[in-house]
Amino acid sequence: MRIVLLGAPGSGKGTQAQRLAQERATPQISTGDLLRAAVAAGTSLGTQAKAAMDAGRLVDDAIVLGIIAERLGAADVRQGFVLDGFPRNLEQAVALNAMLAKLGQPLDVVVLMEVDRAELVRRISGRRTCRDCGRVFNVSATGGAGAPDELCPKESGPHRLYQRPDDNEHTVTERLKVYEDKTKPLVEFYRGQGLLRSIKAEGPIVEVAKRLDAALGISKRTPVARRHRPPAGALSAPRARNRGTPKRSR
Ligand code: ADP
Repeated sequence: MRIVLLGAPGSGKGTQAQRLAQERATPQISTGDLLRAAVAAGTSLGTQAKAAMDAGRLVDDAIVLGIIAERLGAADVRQGFVLDGFPRNLEQAVALNAMLAKLGQPLDVVVLMEVDRAELVRRISGRRTCRDCGRVFNVSATGGAGAPDELCPKESGPHRLYQRPDDNEHTVTERLKVYEDKTKPLVEFYRGQGLLRSIKAEGPIVEVAKRLDAALGISKRTPVARRHRPPAGALSAPRARNRGTPKRSR
């Protein structure tokens, strides 16, 4: 399936996209992650993007569209993808439609994840990310502990959590404003194309996951990863369950 998750910062797009990537072997494509990776690597593109990211503004379309075009050209997205954090304005949405039309792979569904503003601010201030595996946690969901008592699958040690520099009170206000002004018009854009579904994205993560799966028409009894498992003794390597998929590096 080719999916766009639409929603404000903190609405849980990344958490659900990571879950779908793991359960359904569907690559998560997060422009936020790709941009943060470029910043961390010190590429010229990262340097250009950094100021806008630190200020909570949108990075230039030319940069973001270049990154997306490259990512959509990779072989692993031919079986579907979950876009998370892209598109973020009308120009990007129109450009995405054109790219996918060229690839002969139009979007199947756009899910709007709806969360109250007060809850968004609370979530963003509590958000922490593992430096190593990229999993996102929330201190409020784990009783202030940060990550649950489990080991990081990448380092086999405790998760090393950090707070994203743009998850501060001032930048969050700007990001929410940018969402209202630039991204929210996409709701009508995709509704007009008959692609939009909405879910209430508040409450426990597992409940949101159930609502999202229902909106996507996914049945719990037929997970893709299981259906594609080769018979015992088959020569072909099992399809990696999200290994090699870029992870969020929040
Ligand atoms: P969140 O959804 O919590 O705001 P992201 O990780 O998606 O976090 O994005 C972080 C920042 O990266 C944004 O505030 C913006 O500066 C930049 N960014 C991410 N995706 C895009 C995009 N599609 N277009 C422009 N800028 C983007």
